[in-house]
Amino acid sequence: MKLKHLSLHLLMVVCLVFIQSCKNTRSNQPTSSVYIKVLGIAQDAGYPQINCREACCIKVYQGKETKKLVSSLGVINLEDRKKYIFDATPDFNLQSQLLNEDLEDIKIIDGIFLTHAHMGHYTGLMQLGFESMNSDKIPVYAMPRMKNYLKANGPWSQLVKFNNIELQELKSDSTVLLSKKLKVTPFLVPHRDEFSETVGYKIEGPQKSALFIPDINKWQLWSKSIVGKIKTVDYAFLDATFFKSGEINRPMAEVPHPFIEETVDLFKNETAETKQKVIFIHFNHTNPAILNQHFLKDSIQNLGFRFAKNGQIYDL
Ligand SMILES: [Zn+2]
Ligand SMILES: [Zn+2]
Ligand SMILES: [Zn+2]
Repeated sequence: MKLKHLSLHLLMVVCLVFIQSCKNTRSNQPTSSVYIKVLGIAQDAGYPQINCREACCIKVYQGKETKKLVSSLGVINLEDRKKYIFDATPDFNLQSQLLNEDLEDIKIIDGIFLTHAHMGHYTGLMQLGFESMNSDKIPVYAMPRMKNYLKANGPWSQLVKFNNIELQELKSDSTVLLSKKLKVTPFLVPHRDEFSETVGYKIEGPQKSALFIPDINKWQLWSKSIVGKIKTVDYAFLDATFFKSGEINRPMAEVPHPFIEETVDLFKNETAETKQKVIFIHFNHTNPAILNQHFLKDSIQNLGFRFAKNGQIYDL
């Protein structure tokens, strides 16, 4: 009798473990028909970075750490069978394949939203050109300066001339309706605007919404409050290029970004619910947050903040 009781108990434990493991494998699966898929997490130059002979990048060549693709988000709408990408990075070819895993279609992409004209955010457009797939009228959403820059400068001008891409002009704070269930709104942010303006995006699905701000100068230089903005959405993928001051061997004022330490400090009095909306992205090769595991990453996660990871799914 006792033995029977014990085996029943054991069976229950096995069942619970099985259910839990199913949940764990499913946690990276969408439960909504509209969702975000993280396609890359590195700063423009990628990881490892060219000419870096420091431990951060040597680790990758030694096989002790994995390569990371440049920061990008995919948005998939399974109902309409449409997929969009936020920024065309130098890793666009691999990232379009990551989208194909979710939605295989004849069309490579249904729309590309560009944030700005820095190398990690638009140069992947070259993969659409005559020397490559010679695509047909792929919609590319860009702000006015960004649009004119592409039209007026080779090799991008050839993409326009050959109708590989079709430029769609965006207006700051003006919403693009992609479907009844998917809306995108660009908004201007302060950044080094040599060739174009810089925008972040608000992406709104049927249930949830997200902010994507991969590049911005210090938070206090923005006319808006990131703490206030975050309260209007469910997720915020935020510029986390550097972890802290002194991280690189050049004056950091030349490349201003909010340090992870500063963003964490800005949110220190906010609730756990607000903190977990912050998902850090766009890591420089020197930033320990780019590594698969690091104690500094753990310490930030223990405070409630999150780090973007390739392949992660966020329901919209
Ligand atoms: Zn960037
Ligand atoms: Zn490095
Ligand atoms: Zn930039």
